[in-house]
Amino acid sequence: MNLFKPLDPTEGSSAKKELSIENAEKVKTLIIGSGPAGYTAAIYAARAGLSPVMYEGLQPGGQLTTTTEVENYPGYPQGVTGPVMMEDFKAQAQRFGADCRWGIATSLDTTDRPFKVVVDEEKMILAETVILATGATAKYLGLESEQKFMGSGVSACATCDGFFYKNMDVAVVGGGDTACEEASYLANICSKVYMIVRKDYLRASKAMQERVLSNPKIEVLFETNTLEVTGDTVVKGAKLVKNQGLANEKEFTIDISGFFVAIGHKPNSELVEGVVDMDEIGYIKTIPGTSKTNIPGLFACGDVQDPVYRQAITAAGSGCQAALDAERFRNEFPL
Ligand code: NDP
Repeated sequence: MNLFKPLDPTEGSSAKKELSIENAEKVKTLIIGSGPAGYTAAIYAARAGLSPVMYEGLQPGGQLTTTTEVENYPGYPQGVTGPVMMEDFKAQAQRFGADCRWGIATSLDTTDRPFKVVVDEEKMILAETVILATGATAKYLGLESEQKFMGSGVSACATCDGFFYKNMDVAVVGGGDTACEEASYLANICSKVYMIVRKDYLRASKAMQERVLSNPKIEVLFETNTLEVTGDTVVKGAKLVKNQGLANEKEFTIDISGFFVAIGHKPNSELVEGVVDMDEIGYIKTIPGTSKTNIPGLFACGDVQDPVYRQAITAAGSGCQAALDAERFRNEFPL
């Protein structure tokens, strides 16, 4: 996917002009990325008088715009769809003056304050503080059938969608901590949970492994891969293969209504690779209990810094923290 918007040749000279520091736009707080974390940061920053500018990124609204019903976000007693919820968040931020723009931050220089941020490779912004809210992207197997049933039985979030499969049989793909956690969560709701694990062991922590292996509602299918998710308009089953590529390879099917993919997430942190401290997967490290990165004035919130909870409500909470941290930082270190 091309992350960069091509430059319009007719705009070449004005684009260059905007990239110079003299013509750069000065911003108190720049928010990079939308979604519950970014929009919440925008609401709080706007109300604190920081006149935040937000660049919404490639997928305005973030991961929630690919989900259907959200039933676990407080304040929506009847539930709400992910896209509508994100529209509500955005409208609330705009009501207080947040400037939400279409665009992608393509580089960030934190050598000095104000930070230099280039947007769409053609516009320079000088930002006193920057809040990173670029989120994470769930990994999928890459099957055509998986894509076909996205939102109609295929999900990457058991906490979000598990409830729709109450008393039904479901499957979880993956053998890490997330997959074990999702399987345990689903076992409390569903009749049966298959775990489809490609190796002959679980990669998850010992405690997590014990939890799933001792749960009578969870059946772990080791050395098993998915060939296809099957169904008509909704998921009805999955075609699996055991010992793929070996002499004793065996295909079989399972009847399921939900297919949960839990093979990891990719934090969207490329923009600050080599700039801020990250863990080995690429999650931005923040000082516990805060949104502060190792660079003063640069804050991170939401899924780009959270490998554990990854919920809309926790992302929103951390977005609030980021705005409050940015406001206090500006007061303490004015430019
Ligand atoms: P992991 O990378 O740890 O695990 C991914 C799992 O998916 C592995 O079992 C992997 O198999 C499998 N997998 C990857 N690609 C495929 C594929 N194409 N087909 C089939 N299976 C595949 O990701 P997690 O999201 O589980 O965890 C990420 C990090 O977050 C970890 O450090 C984890 O410990 C942490 N975490 C901690 C939690 C907690 O403390 N409560 C909760 C959740 C996560 P294989 O082993 O063969 O590579």
